[in-house]
Amino acid sequence: MSDPAYKHIDLAASNYIKITKKIIYMYYIFVMLTIYPLISNNQQQYKSNKNLNFGYRLPQKAVSDMRDISHLTCASCGREMLKPEVMNKFMKSFMASSVRALENSVLNRFKDSWAFNFVKELSKNAPKKTIDELVKSESAQKQLQNVDAHKKIMLGEFMSVADKITLKAPRVMQKLSKYYDHFCKEDKEILDLMEVYAAQYPKNTFAEIFQKPEVAQHHTELFQTYKQQAMEQKIDVFKRLKEFSKKLPAQDVKKLQVTNNEALKVLNNAYYKPHIKQACVEDIYNNFLKNCETKRIRKKIFDIIKDIPYESPAADEFIAMCAQNKTSDKDIVSKFAQEMSATFEHVKAKSQKGEDTIENGIVLCKKCNTERSNIPYRIYLKIHPEMKKNIQKQINKIITFINHKKLLGYDNYPVDIKKTLLNETDNLIKIKIKRYLKYREQQVLKRLEFARASYGKDKETANNAIQKLNTIEAVMHNLLEEIKQLKKDKHRVNDVLTKAEQSCEHYKNVIEKNQLMFDEINKLIADDTLINQTVKPKKI
Ligand SMILES: [Zn+2]
Repeated sequence: MSDPAYKHIDLAASNYIKITKKIIYMYYIFVMLTIYPLISNNQQQYKSNKNLNFGYRLPQKAVSDMRDISHLTCASCGREMLKPEVMNKFMKSFMASSVRALENSVLNRFKDSWAFNFVKELSKNAPKKTIDELVKSESAQKQLQNVDAHKKIMLGEFMSVADKITLKAPRVMQKLSKYYDHFCKEDKEILDLMEVYAAQYPKNTFAEIFQKPEVAQHHTELFQTYKQQAMEQKIDVFKRLKEFSKKLPAQDVKKLQVTNNEALKVLNNAYYKPHIKQACVEDIYNNFLKNCETKRIRKKIFDIIKDIPYESPAADEFIAMCAQNKTSDKDIVSKFAQEMSATFEHVKAKSQKGEDTIENGIVLCKKCNTERSNIPYRIYLKIHPEMKKNIQKQINKIITFINHKKLLGYDNYPVDIKKTLLNETDNLIKIKIKRYLKYREQQVLKRLEFARASYGKDKETANNAIQKLNTIEAVMHNLLEEIKQLKKDKHRVNDVLTKAEQSCEHYKNVIEKNQLMFDEINKLIADDTLINQTVKPKKI
């Protein structure tokens, strides 16, 4: 990592500048007259496609559900990605203490202001705390209650600048170095150079270093020189291709022109990394060779296009851009830290009508997502064959979460993503989900068996109940019949009773009457008997 890149670049720079300044105007005229219309047309197209390439269009819920899976690894490089809360913590660890931040040149314009002095006073008691922590403390908030609105606005402005000040360069390098292996080749080049600067200016932050006139100017010149040289080299390659095409039949000339345009489009894509550009351009010319009528020109074509300049001095460009845009410390650190964040990758690219749906998504670290951009997997997998293994690793992890009910609503994801990947990679990525499907089959089978057993048990209970009910109903029916009969009997007996009672009443009267008569007659008989015994005829 401590490659003395700085010295090497210094020497190269002076040579570049001398040579190129002389020929810039010559080529400028050439560019304007011949190639420029083509390039500018492609740049125009690139601009209109630019919005299709990047991640603001993420399906938020899907990506947050997936990236909340702890220790999820990137489907491409297989490295662990940082979840948002881990990322926030990581970014906070770069913030400068208040005492250091107040020394930073970016706050010079606030010196002697009320806000600056207010924070300086707070810092005296807790110099190691960050400015943000100091201002948000209870005592500071109490003091701010009685401060007028104008001063509060001034403090807000001061804070927005102060919040972007990080630790000094050597300590930033210490923290970033831990993740050195994660970064792409271009980022490693930048970090190598940053290491050199951190040693050279240990008391400054990177934003301060990159804005030092000697640093900014040096890298801006180097980058401009490279751009010029690369442009000239590019023009030369396409000029040679044009020359070469004169020997070809008319239909092949046309095909080569279309191919050159396609290659230029790739070369002008600012998001493609150099090795991606090279793979795409070679693929484009291979396609041309497959389809053209003239045979045995492969060597000649590849002899010409091997001179296309792909590699760019990433470190010079980065520092030149930071200097030009006055990029803050925080944004410099963030450029690297964010490379490890989890992002949603559209397997079928958005530019090819790929949808914002979970069936079309895998999770890549930002580094890999940027690298893949929207190039076909056919090409990407040639560069990164390890993706086949790493995508399986990611899907396996997701499957574990689905099986443990920690990721609800994603049961069909493994099947769907398998189909999407087969379609989009010309069957190159065929993930294994057999075990997952077997597991699901077993789960369903268990539920089925349980339901069947419960059904059998309940069915028996139901049958018994039906039998009992039938018996009860039969008994009830008989009883009802009996009741009906008894009711009839009751009616009939009631009639008998009524009649008997009426008859009784009648005979009671008859008895009473005849009894009276009987008594009277008996009395009459008794009287008569008495008379007969006692009464003797009178002697006359
Ligand atoms: Zn990755």
